[in-house]
Amino acid sequence: MTGAEAHCTAFREAHGAPEPHATEAALYDAAGLAFIPPELREGRGELDAAAKDDDGGDALPSLIEAADLRGALHNHSTYSDGSASLRAMADAARDRGLAYFGICDHSQSLGVAGGLSPEEVRRQQDDIRALNEAFAADEGDPFRIFSGIESDVLADGALDYAEDVLASFDFVVASVHQGLDMTETEATERVVRAVQNPHTRILGHATGRQLLAREGYPLDVERVIAACAEHDVALEFNANPRRLDLDWRHLRAATDAGVLVAVNPDAHRTAELDYMTRFGVPVARKGWLTAAQCLNAKPLDEFDAWIDGR
Ligand SMILES: [Zn+2]
Ligand SMILES: [Zn+2]
Repeated sequence: MTGAEAHCTAFREAHGAPEPHATEAALYDAAGLAFIPPELREGRGELDAAAKDDDGGDALPSLIEAADLRGALHNHSTYSDGSASLRAMADAARDRGLAYFGICDHSQSLGVAGGLSPEEVRRQQDDIRALNEAFAADEGDPFRIFSGIESDVLADGALDYAEDVLASFDFVVASVHQGLDMTETEATERVVRAVQNPHTRILGHATGRQLLAREGYPLDVERVIAACAEHDVALEFNANPRRLDLDWRHLRAATDAGVLVAVNPDAHRTAELDYMTRFGVPVARKGWLTAAQCLNAKPLDEFDAWIDGR
């Protein structure tokens, strides 16, 4: 049996030291358990969920798979700090079999990352309209670019454009990038205010951590999840391997509260679209994520309806 120490200990306490078996499936079966996927072996309730009922059923989640993803949300282009054009990024998403692509370049306050002025937003939206017309006219499967923005969350929790500009986007990802030196109360108030903003649809990399580089600001994740549930805002699971933020240990609290999780590549070049399948899906599985709980596993029409639903 392989798994985290907590899993193996809990197994031994409940079922005794395991006998040798030819396969792990046989080992779990002998204990009256369904096969527990390796990602779930963390001692976080998976043994109880694997217990078979009278009909042989169990309560393990049907974990998300890479093939469940239908779209890539939160991506950058040369409009801000990405290294590929909008067209090249969208084509790369389509080449990967996806049906939609959300462009979310940086907003105006993030000057160091080429944040978009309102004029540049309009220009990009003209580009998107032209590209979508071309996609609609060609022979391929339906494919659409959605006009998003990764709006900075300002120090007071406001978003980074005037109302009319915010209203022009198909959806807004709200992210904190600046002024990271905050107490937990300050950070939580700021993030919750951003979630309350009626334009926000997704909360980006909620804690701001960068693995092996910085901790991220302290955050009352429970309060943030409750705010997302109240305002029907999805939580990002940022699949960039330097972030993996929100931590997978919090994903179940989010889905238990009915909050959708967006597995987002935060791609700045075409190859980074693969962050979703290389890191996002495998790590989200540790958080018990199912396709039904994943925003960008929705088919194109359902995603389109969802972003208009707030
Ligand atoms: Zn960001
Ligand atoms: Zn980003």
